[in-house]
Amino acid sequence: MTRQAILPGTTASGQQTTLGVMGGGQLGRMFVQAAQRMGFFTAVLDPDPASPAGLVSHFHVQADYLDEQALAQMMQRCAAITTEFENVPAGAMFTLGAHRPVAPSAQCVAIAQDRIREKAHFRACGVPTAPYAVITTAEHLAAVDDALLPGILKTAQLGYDGKGQVRVDNRADLLSAWVQLRSVPCVLERRLDLQSECSIILARGWDGAMVTYPVQRNLHVAGILAMTEVFEGNLAAALARHARQAACAIATELEYVGVLCVEFFVVADATAPDGAALLVNEIAPRPHNSGHYTLDACDHSQFDLQVYALAGLPLPTLRQHSPAVMLNLMGDLWFTRPGEPEQADAKPRTPDWALVLALPGAHLHLYGKLRASHGRKMGHLTITGATQQQVQDTAQRAARLLGIVLA
Ligand code: ADP
Ligand code: MG
Repeated sequence: MTRQAILPGTTASGQQTTLGVMGGGQLGRMFVQAAQRMGFFTAVLDPDPASPAGLVSHFHVQADYLDEQALAQMMQRCAAITTEFENVPAGAMFTLGAHRPVAPSAQCVAIAQDRIREKAHFRACGVPTAPYAVITTAEHLAAVDDALLPGILKTAQLGYDGKGQVRVDNRADLLSAWVQLRSVPCVLERRLDLQSECSIILARGWDGAMVTYPVQRNLHVAGILAMTEVFEGNLAAALARHARQAACAIATELEYVGVLCVEFFVVADATAPDGAALLVNEIAPRPHNSGHYTLDACDHSQFDLQVYALAGLPLPTLRQHSPAVMLNLMGDLWFTRPGEPEQADAKPRTPDWALVLALPGAHLHLYGKLRASHGRKMGHLTITGATQQQVQDTAQRAARLLGIVLA
């Protein structure tokens, strides 16, 4: 499908052209900033009066995602609408999509927000996953193959940053884990010995044109992304090629429009040329934490791409101009000081950003969240530089100065 491009700036009748986003978190904020830089007005729908994107948008509709009046306001104001999180009710996206261009589509969001449908899609695309079983009844639970243990039980919906997941070692664990997860539909995945993790971010336009960033190597700590490294040779060339092909196949089969992230596991495989094989983990129907380095290390950021794809503008040729390492700044940093023992009742204190801003190639991004808490993503730090060695060394220094744990 092609559609007429939505151009930034003012229309002939003096109206500011406005793009909308469902959700007001940090991803929405960075979308809003990219859209505004290009000359669009922006509207955000998020119930939180202090949402990071709502605070910087021209319009902020503060209401529930399924509130009919709020959806009507978004449709009236916006020339096109996107989302910044996959748990936006698919029903809201269907409603908006009936009247305005919406990217990604409600159908794509509905698949990405449900691990069962998501995994079925991967199978249909012929991209291998970790061995898994769908669990929606007690019979399914009883029939689980021993080969899936030890495993991880994951709720089919509403999980993020390792939430909605329980590690299980045996059948007794499995039973209690399912009860702990309130017996909602789940998938049980075999727990794999991961060599590494990686992701691919791509954008696909209304006309099917696709562009991809280089493969990103990701380090997770306790189920949450801690660091992303992107430079030549971060992954074996064959694996990187394979990841890109698989991500493109997944997007094409979905007839996806917008920015998509595909996350992969790398596992040992003696039969493969590099001694390693790729398994797809999950998709995010939006820009992704592992793509934040694109703001500082690429000609166009993943949020620029989200704007271009939504507005039906030609997708730019992507170029990374610098090796990059991105470190997540979690709320935990507000409660600890490097080298000092952690105190349970510590009051939050702003980390000493001046220490890391003195490092070469450091770019600080804070999301404007009013309160820090453990496990909350408060911002990120990107290190750019001339060489891989330089950005890796600087990132290690930054992590030490701030007390970021990378193991
Ligand atoms: P989320 O939606 O929270 O990102 P993921 O399924 O991506 O959920 O899991 C978060 C992290 O937990 C992964 O990036 C990986 O580090 C680890 N993990 C998840 N599933 C497995 C598995 N089957 N084997 C080993 N590690 C896993
Ligand atoms: Mg994940």
